[in-house]
Amino acid sequence: MATSNSYEYINERSINEELLCSICTDPFEDPLCANQCGHTFCRKCITDTFCRKCITDTFCRKCITDTFRDMSRCPTCRHDLKLEDFHPVTIRPFLNQLNQLLVKCKWCSQSNIERGNFKDHLSNCVEEILSCPAANLKCDWKGKRDKIQDHVSICPLIKVQPMIVELTDLVKQQSEQIRCLDTLVKQQLGQIRFLYTILETQAKHNQ
Ligand SMILES: [Zn+2]
Ligand SMILES: [Zn+2]
Ligand SMILES: [Zn+2]
Ligand SMILES: [Zn+2]
Ligand SMILES: [Zn+2]
Repeated sequence: MATSNSYEYINERSINEELLCSICTDPFEDPLCANQCGHTFCRKCITDTFCRKCITDTFCRKCITDTFRDMSRCPTCRHDLKLEDFHPVTIRPFLNQLNQLLVKCKWCSQSNIERGNFKDHLSNCVEEILSCPAANLKCDWKGKRDKIQDHVSICPLIKVQPMIVELTDLVKQQSEQIRCLDTLVKQQLGQIRFLYTILETQAKHNQ
């Protein structure tokens, strides 16, 4: 399973096992290491593992940082961990080994690019197919780097993008508020039912 859409590893089978993430089975990308047990995972893999616990994607960030973070475990040894127990790996030789892995660009098929240099390659790769910056607003334009400026200058969706982002944030905030109110109402209903039971018992006593 490849983590990047833009490159594939060359001789993937010959890659040192110590460089592989146990979640995605690919070489680590942006590795994070758990302070307590020392197990290491890609940042994206471990973040996804932690936030898959929530029911909707919308509140992912929230649930990483409060309710669910206390309930998570290391995927390898089941040690109790929070996301904040992970720190970025800074061991140079380890990172160098990862950066020196050879990859092949899926767009232009150029081979033997060191992974650490791939970003530079991609920013100049003439074959890469880019999406419109307003793709999240359903603009389905796709094209090569040399055509994107022409599209951006005429794309109507890019002009309204800031406004729509603002509105979407507002809707998210409001649905969060509605959720809170809903919980409050449920709590109060519970209390009313409880009081009602007490009143009923007292009424029976007084008969
Ligand atoms: Zn991974
Ligand atoms: Zn989540
Ligand atoms: Zn562990
Ligand atoms: Zn390329
Ligand atoms: Zn567009």
